[in-house]
Amino acid sequence: MTISLTIHHEHPEPEHIQRAAQTLQQGGLVAFPTETVYGLGANALDENAVQKIFTAKGRPSEDPLIIHLSSVEQLPQVCATVPETAQLLAEKFWPGPLTLILPKNKHVPYAVTAGLETVAVRVPSHPVAQALLKSCNLPIAAPSANRFGHTSPTLATHVMHDLDGRIDIILDGGPASIGVESTVLDISTSPARILRPGGVPREALEALLGPIDVLDVKRKAEAGLPSPGLLEKHYAPRAELVFFLSQDAREQMLVYLSGEKARGRTVGVLAAQEEAPAFEKAGALAYRLGDSNDTAQIAKRLYAGMRWLDRQKVDVILCRDFGEAGLGLAIRDRLRRAAVKVIH
Ligand code: AMP
Ligand code: MG
Repeated sequence: MTISLTIHHEHPEPEHIQRAAQTLQQGGLVAFPTETVYGLGANALDENAVQKIFTAKGRPSEDPLIIHLSSVEQLPQVCATVPETAQLLAEKFWPGPLTLILPKNKHVPYAVTAGLETVAVRVPSHPVAQALLKSCNLPIAAPSANRFGHTSPTLATHVMHDLDGRIDIILDGGPASIGVESTVLDISTSPARILRPGGVPREALEALLGPIDVLDVKRKAEAGLPSPGLLEKHYAPRAELVFFLSQDAREQMLVYLSGEKARGRTVGVLAAQEEAPAFEKAGALAYRLGDSNDTAQIAKRLYAGMRWLDRQKVDVILCRDFGEAGLGLAIRDRLRRAAVKVIH
């Protein structure tokens, strides 16, 4: 039985927080809202509890987890050393959607890090996540609260759909405000390198650190990945997603759409607000992501859109690229991974 507790997103009810914190202290699993997506939490220092995460998600054990902390002061509980760059980044971006890769200490079970000597850590800003972390007073390992390979949950109903009966508690605090996962940054290399684009834009990190690299997932797939969670096929809806990266994406999508319709297939489009009517006219089901310039809004609605179109049982989902600025890079990364076909 999974208990769902509706909780206020800004002023979480203490009795719900206490109940969830107790469950974590006893080695149970709690799904909770963060500003990125919903997380599935367990005591990071309890190997048995951590194993339950992998079982509930059906996640392969070689995919490492992110540890969530209530504040930067908790870093020594899980890290062997805290480089100066980490302090600098923490001051600027924590609490928030930035994950840092740091050397692990001996208290962190290898189950969390998939055998690596490094650990991924972040301090989330969501008031429910903050209250929970403070109340249980433990580092909490928390991947996204979905079955492995599915789209990350941005609503508690998404979590219920994937994990009902497999976890102890869901704290339902409404929609996740950012909607894509955190930016994962490796600062052990020079320049630092983004392993996964996410909620903190590249530009914001570069303003502090100077030029940084972005891991090319395609190239890395050939050279061997630094961590298996960066696998190409991930974050995917059930329908066949076709991603348009070309300049004339809108026109190409309309052509593709009519081809699919002619074959008797139903088509959904994850569409920019202003482009949706043209796709609807051409016979597609359009999910409005937001204004094409508003990458924050698009990121926020992206996963919900994939899940919604899946529920409408469309055969194909079309979506175009929205550039690299702001959250554009993270959106592109997720769409590329979700796609069965990329059209250049
Ligand atoms: P998730 O919790 O589902 O958002 O996924 C966490 C992701 O963080 C993993 O899939 C990896 O891509 C990345 N990650 C976690 N730990 C490490 C690590 N020690 N080194 C590099 N990447 C990591
Ligand atoms: Mg995930």
